[in-house]
Amino acid sequence: MPWGRHKNEPPFPFLVDDITREAFGSAGLRGLATNLWPHECQTCGREFVGARPAVHVEVRESGGTATLHHADCHPAGWDELATTSGRESSSTATLSTISCALLLPTVGEQTGVESWRPFLLVNPGLEQVAVVKDDGHWRVATVDYYAQFGLNTGGEVLRLGDGIPNAIASLDDRGTITVMLGDLRAGFAAECEPEVVDRIRELGGIVLVLGSVLRPDHDTLDLVHEFADAIQARQVAGGWVPLG
Ligand SMILES: [Zn+2]
Repeated sequence: MPWGRHKNEPPFPFLVDDITREAFGSAGLRGLATNLWPHECQTCGREFVGARPAVHVEVRESGGTATLHHADCHPAGWDELATTSGRESSSTATLSTISCALLLPTVGEQTGVESWRPFLLVNPGLEQVAVVKDDGHWRVATVDYYAQFGLNTGGEVLRLGDGIPNAIASLDDRGTITVMLGDLRAGFAAECEPEVVDRIRELGGIVLVLGSVLRPDHDTLDLVHEFADAIQARQVAGGWVPLG
């Protein structure tokens, strides 16, 4: 299944402690299940094999992170950190980012005209998501995080024509597209097939879409439908990035 799992599929894919279970509630837990991907343990950096990964939540006031670990490396748990804490992680692991560049059909909101546009789809962190407290419960906040840097969020449509502030794309001779988000001080890159390169050059840019619900390493047309679902569920954020 391209983007994810069935949301109500039992059993819950991760180990969580009682505080996390209560803090997130059933909707919040479903969000964790569909936005965290057990690629590498965020304590030891090794892959997950077999046993269910454990969720470690670290929060400061109304925001924090949820990460995946081998239960032996870090048990499922909930930690409240002091706001002033400058605690450094001793982890040897790195967060896995995956991205792919492809052409997807889009429809002009005013004109109704269909055209193929180049997209850079990115999951910025497989094993870690931002979380926030909202109406008494905690939930995954990947999209909220990127929205504050001027990316558009979904809903009925994802407005792809609006540029992302201070974002610039570059394309090298080997067909690697790199998008830099100046306000976020982050960059994302992917290799492009020749037809994607041509379309990027023709239009003078690319649509960047970020979401932790995305698993954009599946080479399949099902992508289109799953991606449309993610837009309607406001699980992605994106916008236009011009070539520099
Ligand atoms: Zn581990």
